[in-house]
Amino acid sequence: MSLTRDDLVAMDAADPLKRLREQFALPDGTIYLDGNSLGALPKATAARLHRAVTDEWGRGLIGSWNHAGWIELPRRVGDKIARLVGAAPGELVAADSTSVNLYKVLAAALAIQRNGRSERRVILSERSNFPTDLYIAQSLALQHGCELRALCAEDIPAAIDAHTAVLMLTHVNYRTGRLHDMASLTRLAHDAGALAIWDLAHSAGAVSVDLNGAQADFAIGCGYKYLNGGPGAPAFVWAHARHAARLEQPLTGWMGHATPFTFSPHYEPAPGITRFLCGTPAVLAMLALECGVDTVLAAEPLGGMAALRGKSLAMTRVFAELVESRCAGHGLELVSPRDDALRGSQVCLTRAEGGHAIVQALIARGVVGDFRAGDPQVSDILRFGFTPLYLRFADLWDAVEHLRAVLERGEWREARFQHRAAVT
Ligand SMILES: *Cc1c(COP(=O)(O)O)cnc(C)c1O
Repeated sequence: MSLTRDDLVAMDAADPLKRLREQFALPDGTIYLDGNSLGALPKATAARLHRAVTDEWGRGLIGSWNHAGWIELPRRVGDKIARLVGAAPGELVAADSTSVNLYKVLAAALAIQRNGRSERRVILSERSNFPTDLYIAQSLALQHGCELRALCAEDIPAAIDAHTAVLMLTHVNYRTGRLHDMASLTRLAHDAGALAIWDLAHSAGAVSVDLNGAQADFAIGCGYKYLNGGPGAPAFVWAHARHAARLEQPLTGWMGHATPFTFSPHYEPAPGITRFLCGTPAVLAMLALECGVDTVLAAEPLGGMAALRGKSLAMTRVFAELVESRCAGHGLELVSPRDDALRGSQVCLTRAEGGHAIVQALIARGVVGDFRAGDPQVSDILRFGFTPLYLRFADLWDAVEHLRAVLERGEWREARFQHRAAVT
């Protein structure tokens, strides 16, 4: 029996997480299916930043580094993010960008391998990994005399061998929404003597992650996607405690020093993950990130990440089902896995023609998704992200009805939807 809008309204009424939406300042008339690219604005953020600017900076001036706790922010916010990804307090810091943190952990992993088995020269990754991850790996491969091998997801397990120095994967693929099995791939890497780095950009706050349970070596992730930290929010970095005493990271700035305020001319790394800090934290951005992370932690009394994951899976399942039933015959193809165990928090579609224009026509109707261009090896993607914190099931029905209208009326062929902006 096919779903009706009333069924979805009933699901919203029964949703134990429904009140979490009140934490967000969402514009009326918008169905926001792009929280995987830029999370929505928490209501608390503007007031928190106003207080930080006028009181803490304006009146407190430099004393706020101590009195307002600014200097502790990378660790304080890090401890909060740790709760979402299966890490312990003191194991994770918020800092820099995802790209920069990947540079640090990949260099640290290669340094560990260099100290041991020098025949390991391969950084193994996925061909459709997010480009910045591949670019950073290309640069480090050159510097370390290594080679980046980027393969299709299916070919990766068999390619992990005695030459693999580091397995570097993004947990949820940004193009397809496919979720890797972190525990089993990490085990394969370890069995072959390799280290495993996980990029949690599309996982933190969206899917259940257990870094310690999986025995992962390093992880990084993004603050402005499902963590709702705001545009360009600081990212985060984690290392397993077994590496803490022997981590060499290349960006040896003073905030990673054991005692930054002794102003010693000699670098001495701080114990543990603090050595992954480089320079002075961006305080205002860090406070906005904390507000965003708090919106996810607000789910803890309601079942936490497991409950959010349950709702997210129900949402992606319903959305894919509605697209296939209500938009049948319009050439859309589901790219994301149907199997819940293999799907992150997004639904990706492809179409032979018009993908970008269809997304633009949807945005004009208030349904915000995004478009990721393909190349000869991967198809164009119409991408829809599902944030269980603020989406309602009825939104899914309405979004699919807009998609159907855009396709049935050929609206996407209009000239105004053909332009490509700088950011897609
Ligand atoms: C979003 C994303 C990034 C973003 O990196 P920035 O340094 O913040 O630009 C990196 N990697 C992956 C896999 C992402 O999805």
